[in-house]
Amino acid sequence: MTRIERVAVIGAGTMGHGIAYVACAAGYHVALTDSEPGAAERGVRKVEAAFDRAIERGKASPEQRARALAQLVTRDDPGDAARDADLVIEAIPERLELKRALFAELSSAARSSAILATNTSSLPIGEIATAVREPARVVGLHFFNPVPAMRLLEIVRGAMTSEATVETARTFASSLGKTPVVVGDSPGFATSRLGIVLGLEAIRMLEQGVANAQDIDRAMELGYNHPVGPLRLTDIVGLDVRLAIADHLHRSFGADTYRAPTLLRDMVRDGKLGKKTGEGFYRWEGEQ
Ligand code: NAD
Repeated sequence: MTRIERVAVIGAGTMGHGIAYVACAAGYHVALTDSEPGAAERGVRKVEAAFDRAIERGKASPEQRARALAQLVTRDDPGDAARDADLVIEAIPERLELKRALFAELSSAARSSAILATNTSSLPIGEIATAVREPARVVGLHFFNPVPAMRLLEIVRGAMTSEATVETARTFASSLGKTPVVVGDSPGFATSRLGIVLGLEAIRMLEQGVANAQDIDRAMELGYNHPVGPLRLTDIVGLDVRLAIADHLHRSFGADTYRAPTLLRDMVRDGKLGKKTGEGFYRWEGEQ
């Protein structure tokens, strides 16, 4: 089993900054990078803000904040971030060709003992792994949003993932205070495959005028005890992320259940991506 001390996080968006937060809070040395200039630094500012909120709620102390932030650095590119990492976690957009290109780069940039993890929500681990010389060290580490609050870590075992890699992933999950589940490499795994169905159907109901967004969400929150309704959750996840997942599952299964509603496609085209752009099914001014 690989001993993890240094973690590289590639992609500093919604998920990447959250993963960096939980990893440095748990005592790991973290290197955060993003291909967009300034994005890694913005990610660090979001981590700082997340610590401030945790301190306000009595969940972290100023000393913990200072200790964790001293262990968080930014790097200019994935090769630099991965060079001395024991674990690399990729959190770039949900596009197979992008992820394969990054993993091919990591294959030579990272140490041969390093574990290479992807935070993909739905894409095949096996196809990402074939971009790497040693596919046994590639695994899915599927975090949930918002990362600090969500207790689940879905570990996805590809056909070539070694048992030692899965065991290291389990130990890492527990060290972050997350509960791991280990699932097979099937489209959408155990979580997105089910979760996206509810989200897409809620959008179809909105399209058909069954009810407004608030009432569709309230129906599931109060009637089914879901902590967050499916449309609000889609805003939190990102409409572009959910569209990419739906398209992939539709291609994989061919079932109409996964066909993306026109409204979702239109909103993504218009840049209404949810919380991260300030507008989706709801308005999120000042919350990006
Ligand atoms: P995002 O769009 O918020 O962030 C992606 C970041 O990656 C951006 O900052 C972008 O500049 C950067 N990037 C793009 N190409 C890059 C490259 N080659 N190298 C380095 N950085 C690059 O996306 P997100 O919501 O954080 O999603 C990231 C991954 O996590 C996706 O695979 C998604 O399916 C998965 N995921 C998302 C959620 C969610 O709720 N948003 C939940 C679980 C898993």
